[in-house]
Amino acid sequence: MAVPLRQVLRVGAYVVRQHMAGRKRYPLVLMLEPLFRCNLACAGCGKIDYPAEILNQRLSVQECLDAVDECGAPVVAIAGGEPLLHKELPEIVAKILARKKFVYLCTNALLLEKKLDQFKPHPYFSWDVHLDGDREMHDWAVSQDGVFDRAVSAIKAAKARGFRLSINTTLFDGADPARVAKFFDAAMALGIDGIMTSPGYAYERAPDQQHFLSRQKTKQLFRDLLARGKGKGWKFSQSPLFIDFLAGNQTYHCMPWGNPTRNVFGWQRPCYLLGEGYTKTFTELMETTDWDAYGTGNYEKCADCMVHSGYEAAAVVDAVKHPLKIAAVALRGPRVSGPMAPEIPLEGQRPAEFVFSRHVQDKMSALAHDKAARTKPDALADAAD
Ligand code: SF4
Repeated sequence: MAVPLRQVLRVGAYVVRQHMAGRKRYPLVLMLEPLFRCNLACAGCGKIDYPAEILNQRLSVQECLDAVDECGAPVVAIAGGEPLLHKELPEIVAKILARKKFVYLCTNALLLEKKLDQFKPHPYFSWDVHLDGDREMHDWAVSQDGVFDRAVSAIKAAKARGFRLSINTTLFDGADPARVAKFFDAAMALGIDGIMTSPGYAYERAPDQQHFLSRQKTKQLFRDLLARGKGKGWKFSQSPLFIDFLAGNQTYHCMPWGNPTRNVFGWQRPCYLLGEGYTKTFTELMETTDWDAYGTGNYEKCADCMVHSGYEAAAVVDAVKHPLKIAAVALRGPRVSGPMAPEIPLEGQRPAEFVFSRHVQDKMSALAHDKAARTKPDALADAAD
């Protein structure tokens, strides 16, 4: 099992406590994005084309810790942008670990070898290296030659120093299951602790929409891939029931509150993938978001989504409620043939709303206001007009 036992037990106990307290919605993984700036410019990324003023913003150490405390999720995934560009990241990680949270630090690994000295192996800490396939597949996905080789070199260096490390692989439309299977074999041979995988999804900020997967294609791709992994000992750093869901064997409804996102705009509504408004506090996010308006079957933008940020929470909750079910899947692996679980009907979904630019404009106005306040108090009134 790639998820450490202590994490399984702590997260399981947390879920049980939430249920005993009668909470219907609660966070499991905080997605913390302390910056959007990146040292790559991948075609499938919706972050790095923000205006420079926004790319220059950073969450401070205190803002990151406040987010962790306010949210209370037992797991924190630090993403971005490229988190290693944030100068205070080692301090942020150390202080989150001191709060006994499990930290997954997502990175493209370009700076990993250089910065390894700034971090220490810890039972609650894992690197999560972005690697979308073999050399050709990955360098194509990140739109730059040589990145795969640097990531592999960094993975070896991190493992040699005793760090836990998973790779994070997004599968795009047109992925060849045989080739991805070979890549997973090679990745496991590097001595990594696990594989995180998710289908690419055409969320609204991603400029290269044509390479993302639809639900039916996703399920078939994962079945074809997992069939090739039988008996090979691939370890996934995700719930076995989430992998079973990707293979079309579970009907799960999205639980976007399970993976709330905090970034330089605030708390993102409703999820990591869609930006349909921001709140100042986590409580406001939970209490004022119309959660039933989102998820596959409820909203056109969610129709094809099977991404972990919406559905892994559903798998974790299912696992805690039905331990025998997860034990069976963990033991025999996901079923890769036969009928699939029923799909969620889309007839009742509401049409897409295109609200993206509003929060960018709001943030740009707020930054202009701050700048005016710093440089010329009289200009405040102008900026407010
Ligand atoms: S289905 Fe859930 S995770 Fe996917 S885009 Fe919609 S709200 Fe976000």
